[in-house]
Amino acid sequence: MREKLLSPALLAVLLLVSGCSVQKIDKTRAAETGVKNVILFIGDGMGTSHVYAAMSTSKKPLVLESFPFTGFSKTYSYNGYVTDSGAGGTAIACGVKTNNGMIGTGPDSAAVTSITEIAHRNGLATGVLSTSAVTHATPASFVAHSSGRGNYEDIAKDFLNGTVNVFIGGGEDHFRNRNDNDDLTLKLRQQGYDVVYSLADLKKSESKKIAGLLAKEHMPSVAEGRKGILPEMVKKAIDVLSRDEAGFFLMVEGSMIDWGAHEKNLEYAVSELIDMDEAIGVAKKFAEKNGETLIVVTADHETGGLSLTGGSIPGKLVKGEFIESGSHTGVMVPIFSFGPGAARFSGIHENTFFLNEFVDLLKLKK
Ligand code: MG
Ligand code: ZN
Repeated sequence: MREKLLSPALLAVLLLVSGCSVQKIDKTRAAETGVKNVILFIGDGMGTSHVYAAMSTSKKPLVLESFPFTGFSKTYSYNGYVTDSGAGGTAIACGVKTNNGMIGTGPDSAAVTSITEIAHRNGLATGVLSTSAVTHATPASFVAHSSGRGNYEDIAKDFLNGTVNVFIGGGEDHFRNRNDNDDLTLKLRQQGYDVVYSLADLKKSESKKIAGLLAKEHMPSVAEGRKGILPEMVKKAIDVLSRDEAGFFLMVEGSMIDWGAHEKNLEYAVSELIDMDEAIGVAKKFAEKNGETLIVVTADHETGGLSLTGGSIPGKLVKGEFIESGSHTGVMVPIFSFGPGAARFSGIHENTFFLNEFVDLLKLKK
């Protein structure tokens, strides 16, 4: 019988040990869940075929393959079986299905609250990173509210609302080469942001608030010379945000997996996915050391209807075919998770479920 093994002495030791640890952990906000920080990666357009194409051709195993939990997300939007990145990003960021093309609003165009805003209100540090302009649909969904994803200059203005401590990506023109001639970078500086325009200056920055505008519009692709920069951005963001005792929420987008697939260019999509995987590796290294960090990786939708029709595992080759249009499709997209709370992300979920899980795991007040 099991009970017989619990001698009074052992029981006393167990009580002592558990008593001590409860006292210690109770001091932190997320005592029950063990989650102090959340890092969310979104591979735009990243379906399971894209992931497997990268697995098949990568020189080394993907970091993603080491994640203990996997699941699926249903990506349909309020008004479409097939979503765009506006509605897809809004569902993940705000927990609300909305119309295609909308950013941080419900289908009625009224603003809905994002996880970034909730985290900020609860005193956490927050970050948003992308390889596209930070004003583009996916990162914008975590910061801005607009019924039209193309309103880049309005969306840029929403970065002045103080929600995000660190944002890094492209989009300089939307901040200081605007039709209204307003220079938003001056206002960001007044708010205490260090505004930087190069990776070198980003690395040197010692500010707790950073606006990194590393390209006029979008950053170059990996093939055009961006290789390794997203991992550097992630490293810097974690360095800055993890100084905050209250914990942090960080969203990182691999924006161009989608663009490669739209172009029906498998090499483009795969190189972008492998680059994001390296950035995930940076986050995982931190999470392993830190012990209180949950990493979730997912996509807003699949792009290109990619099927893998041949290849060679020993030869590290893959042959892919895209649908004629190269458009988004309605298939479920994968979820990978690592760290405390990661088991919650296995199974099949609506794309609106992430927000409530993050809120619950971080013990935030909505
Ligand atoms: Mg995107
Ligand atoms: Zn797309």
